[in-house]
Amino acid sequence: MLSTQYPRIELVIGAERIGPEVREARPVLNPATGEQLGMMPSATPGDLDRVVSAAEAAFAIWRAMSAYERSAILRRFADLLRANAEAIATNLTRDMGKPLSEAVIEIRSGADHVDWHAEEGRRIYGRIIPARAAGVQQQVLREPVGACLAISPWNFPMSQAVRKIAAALASGCTVILKAAAETPSSVMAMADLLREAGLPDGCLNLLWGDSNLISQTLLARPEVKKLSFTGSIPVGKHLAELAGRHMKRLTMELGGHAPVLVFDDADPEAAARALAANKLRNAGQVCISPTRFFVQERGYDRFVGELAGAFAKVKVGNGLEPGVQMGPLCHPGRVVAMESLVGDAVERGANVVTGGSRIGNVGNFYAPTIVTTEGDEIALMNDEPFGPIAVVSPFCGIDDGLARANRLPLGLASYVFTNSLERAEQSAAGLQAGMVSVNHFGLALPETPFGGVRDSGYGTEGGSETFDAYLNTKFVSMMTR
Ligand code: NAD
Repeated sequence: MLSTQYPRIELVIGAERIGPEVREARPVLNPATGEQLGMMPSATPGDLDRVVSAAEAAFAIWRAMSAYERSAILRRFADLLRANAEAIATNLTRDMGKPLSEAVIEIRSGADHVDWHAEEGRRIYGRIIPARAAGVQQQVLREPVGACLAISPWNFPMSQAVRKIAAALASGCTVILKAAAETPSSVMAMADLLREAGLPDGCLNLLWGDSNLISQTLLARPEVKKLSFTGSIPVGKHLAELAGRHMKRLTMELGGHAPVLVFDDADPEAAARALAANKLRNAGQVCISPTRFFVQERGYDRFVGELAGAFAKVKVGNGLEPGVQMGPLCHPGRVVAMESLVGDAVERGANVVTGGSRIGNVGNFYAPTIVTTEGDEIALMNDEPFGPIAVVSPFCGIDDGLARANRLPLGLASYVFTNSLERAEQSAAGLQAGMVSVNHFGLALPETPFGGVRDSGYGTEGGSETFDAYLNTKFVSMMTR
């Protein structure tokens, strides 16, 4: 069983484990207390050379195993994740900050993702196409692409990484994971548990260190066939350009700024209560977090009043303390970003209804905040806050609501609250987004596709589409007589 003691952070390169004592290293900090949790080693150019060889060598072994055997290893991994959920979650709260209850949910839902991919990976089928000529057999085969580079962010350090690992491994690919430097503990735990579950060395490798060096070196290597990236739009565009130069397969899960349309036939108080809980999950550091709230005029004041009441009641603190509902932001830069967005809003005449400032001087705490504004000029209406700020604005009818929701060149998640089937259908059709959820929060399950359009990226994780990114299609035409 894993311990609740903070784990040693290591580079994992094939069977090698390399600790911080023998590499340049940086500290890992607790965002609630500022305390140092551990040290993280940085990969050297020599490590990058060896990791490519390890992932390439393991690919030959892993792809030769049957889907049934691969599935059995992944199922054992999912069981181990569940058995160790409390220990992994405790350390995830230490380095990321979210309340322990949310961290436990993240680990359990990660295990569900692994189970689902383990099962679905046994159903990767090809097909036979009837031929025009007698004696010809036409087959369509699906083959794993090879060694994949996966890059994941800090907000859901376990979930974001496990989606990529589970899909790649279930497809028969191997993985080199560069996860976020702020939050390494749950990723280390996954490497340990996958080894315990029987994954051959080299199928999952972990890198930490200079992001630019890692992406530039690995994307230039012919053995690395694919990049799956989750993170910000500017970094995503930079990596897409780099990957394009070397003709790599790509999945891009980038930022959002999710609009919410609350129509006047919905109950504004009920919608506000549901949205408050969802908005403040993970302190708003969620790419599908509802962020731009457009509320039809008739219910506007009631909606803002209820949302403000719910925000004011939220207990903010160290995620390991009982009863805490919202933890700190993951790193100090997020607090600076919140201060700058609220400062801009105030300067341009918007109204801060509640919150609007950091809490205390220890840790990265920022108060749940509501800003109201008439138009779309303030920075908060344009830049993803990725923090506990909701910006609320009135709208008049469906055309106005859809135009404002679609105004930004992004399209990840979007939400609608209405009691009219017609408006629900019109909104679902009119919203330019990869995901639309009506009257509830129904996104990000293993069996449902997750992904964005426009600047929010391309490709899908989850759902049966998940494997497309990790498989090549090969057509074989065979004259058999
Ligand atoms: P980020 O782009 O700064 O970092 C994401 C990851 O990329 C980290 O591991 C980071 O170290 C790495 N990275 C940064 N520069 C790199 C480079 N040049 N080469 C290789 N790796 C590099 O994003 P962030 O601030 O960590 O995460 C927040 C952003 O991620 C938000 O915009 C959020 O919306 C987005 N996000 C999207 C999804 C999604 O599924 N669509 C999910 C979570 C977060």
